[in-house]
Amino acid sequence: MSEDVAADALKRFFGFDGFLPGQREIVEAALAGRDALALMPTGGGKSLTYQLPATLLPGVTVVVSPLIALMKDQVDRLLANGVAATAITSALDPDERERREQAALRGAYRLLYVAPERLVNPSFLRLLDTLHSQQGIALFAVDEAHCVSEWGHDFRPEYRKIGAVRARYAGVPMLGLTATATERVRADIVEQLRLREPLIHVASFNRPNLRYDVRQRGRAAYRELLVALRDLRRDNPDAPAIIYCQTRRGVESLCDKLLEDGVRAAPYHAGLAPEQRTRYQDDFIHDRTTTLVATVAFGMGVAKPDVRMVAHMDTPRNLESYYQESGRAGRDGDPAHCLLFYSPGDRARVEYFIEGMSEEQQPIARQQFQRVLSWAMESDCRRRGLLAYFGEELAEENCGACDVCLNPTEREDRTVDAQKLLSAVARTEQRFGLMYVVSVVRGENKKVIRERGHDQLSVYGIGANQSMEEWRRLGYALLAQGMLAEGANGSSAYPTVRLTPLAWEVLRGNERVEVARAREQPRVPRRGEAQLDTTAFDLFERLRALRRELADEAQVPAYVIFPDATLRALATRRPETRQQFAQIPGVGEAKIAALAGAFLPEIRAFCDERGLESWPEVESDENAAPAPRVTEASRASGAGLGGGRGASARETLDLFRAGLSLEEIAERRNLTRTTLVGHLCDMLNAGEELDLTRLMSADRLRAIEDAFARLGASPLSPVKEALGEEVSFDDLRLVRAALRKPSP
Ligand code: ADP
Ligand code: ZN
Repeated sequence: MSEDVAADALKRFFGFDGFLPGQREIVEAALAGRDALALMPTGGGKSLTYQLPATLLPGVTVVVSPLIALMKDQVDRLLANGVAATAITSALDPDERERREQAALRGAYRLLYVAPERLVNPSFLRLLDTLHSQQGIALFAVDEAHCVSEWGHDFRPEYRKIGAVRARYAGVPMLGLTATATERVRADIVEQLRLREPLIHVASFNRPNLRYDVRQRGRAAYRELLVALRDLRRDNPDAPAIIYCQTRRGVESLCDKLLEDGVRAAPYHAGLAPEQRTRYQDDFIHDRTTTLVATVAFGMGVAKPDVRMVAHMDTPRNLESYYQESGRAGRDGDPAHCLLFYSPGDRARVEYFIEGMSEEQQPIARQQFQRVLSWAMESDCRRRGLLAYFGEELAEENCGACDVCLNPTEREDRTVDAQKLLSAVARTEQRFGLMYVVSVVRGENKKVIRERGHDQLSVYGIGANQSMEEWRRLGYALLAQGMLAEGANGSSAYPTVRLTPLAWEVLRGNERVEVARAREQPRVPRRGEAQLDTTAFDLFERLRALRRELADEAQVPAYVIFPDATLRALATRRPETRQQFAQIPGVGEAKIAALAGAFLPEIRAFCDERGLESWPEVESDENAAPAPRVTEASRASGAGLGGGRGASARETLDLFRAGLSLEEIAERRNLTRTTLVGHLCDMLNAGEELDLTRLMSADRLRAIEDAFARLGASPLSPVKEALGEEVSFDDLRLVRAALRKPSP
């Protein structure tokens, strides 16, 4: 047993092997009974700094949190990690509230979440008195502590009274937490919460996993947004995105447009009925809609960690709020995109708000807005400008992840190439998607091209000397510059491209086309990020589907089961035993108990299907613990289809042939549908025949075969994207396996 109780609990409850910067100091302060103030950016890992002490200290940790949704999210995650926690909120009916209060007095919880209003309420204080004398209060944690300050961006008067509660339990340490870093707010928090000689931890506010992208809002802004969304979703069709508009009207109209363009979007603003708003928010959190179009009011109460893009369609009022709102992307540390469309023309709208402010505040607000505009119009690193606002300096010259640092100012003339691509669009009668046109320009040898006679066109093969990627980039640039437009394509989800009047000017030689020169994009190191190879990606997709099932069953958001980073680690490390499972970051004891039974068989089945060994050795780097070796015996049993696992696939096939549905087999064999589909794919690959129309309609089967012929069978995501919602990856895998010739 190690002496390091904090590190032990970190592994046991949260599954992490090390602390993020600053976490250990704050945890140790709390354990030592010292007050602390933690200033860390969103995603910096603040919650752990009081949750971990709560698992170790005797008594209850009382967490003050401003919003019910935030409390609920944290409680869900704690319970999933095997830490007893609850929230006492106004949303509970009196019986349930009473029940939770009594349970708290009996010592049933390590953490108790309350809103500031409740905390300072006399009858709740009486409960706290009893709790303190019976169980002891271990720690007060005040989340979103900047709400105490008028200088912060979310002043909440009730926060002012927390200081008095602090005085009532003088011996209990208090920890304030916020992602707001200005000097002024910091001083205010210490004073208002009456922190005593607190440890003050100021983390860097740099968010290296966020890529900033600031553009002047032109007429093509909407199209640029669509292109950005499509880029985002090339590998992960479900990547969550938030798009902010200033007004309700803006929200509604943008949302409508997105829906027309096939984006699964939902609106969120104060004008909606509360139930409706809650439903849209829930749909977003549970990944039923991918894109939330919202006023900036949305997000404060939502801690969804896997938001991959935050776009602003209007100029924010100040840099602080832009930092906070854009910072709702990528809390999990994975890469995310922050896209801002600004316009000096927004001044009039902002002025309207400013006029509603007090005399003293008006000049400050105007100055702050001006600062946003100059930051946006400057051609200096975006990150440097943002950090400077918080008094922090960026060490590197080139941040490697903002439009200024990434985009060469150099532009090149691509008029001739653009003419080639545009005329290919014209010659194919504006009836096909961009990638099809590109394959014609590149002269690809494809059956579909020959069948349509497009190999006879003069444009066939005129661009064979450039890569598909290069043509795609040019195509996107033409879309963004308004020379190509996308249109719906009958019932297909695959948009066609057509020429705009501007395109005809280019073709006539009246208009030139300039495009930023392609450049190797410098990469920033990112916590946890790793590129997955194809195999790992396939397994990742399967594990993601499994996570979805488990999350739906437990009625929690997917990230409560496991964050993406954990799925990635599972997909690359392929643990076979519980011990190996335990070594994956994010897998603590409660998760082993609850989830090993679902994830390990899935991984094992995948290994069998592909003839892969489980838990392969990793290339050692100094920090990594040596990977346990796989024994010869386990390797032998994992290989190919001959062994025990092949028998499992065979059994599935036999049951299926006997007329059972996959659902029935799933129930009978206690396996997930995905595992069974894996078995069937396996048997198909091994040369068995299967009537796929028992699993999907003949129409769908044909549509998938067509899509494979058009787009190739690997990777699957573009095919999925082309075919849309109803077609699942399972369907695609089955058809792909059926099309493949059995290996001799
Ligand atoms: P904040 O409240 O500061 O925005 P969170 O507490 O939500 O941040 O944590 C952000 C993310 O970092 C979460 O996905 C969390 O699981 C992860 N995380 C926290 N602590 C660690 C750690 N020590 N090691 C790895 N990941 C961590
Ligand atoms: Zn930069």
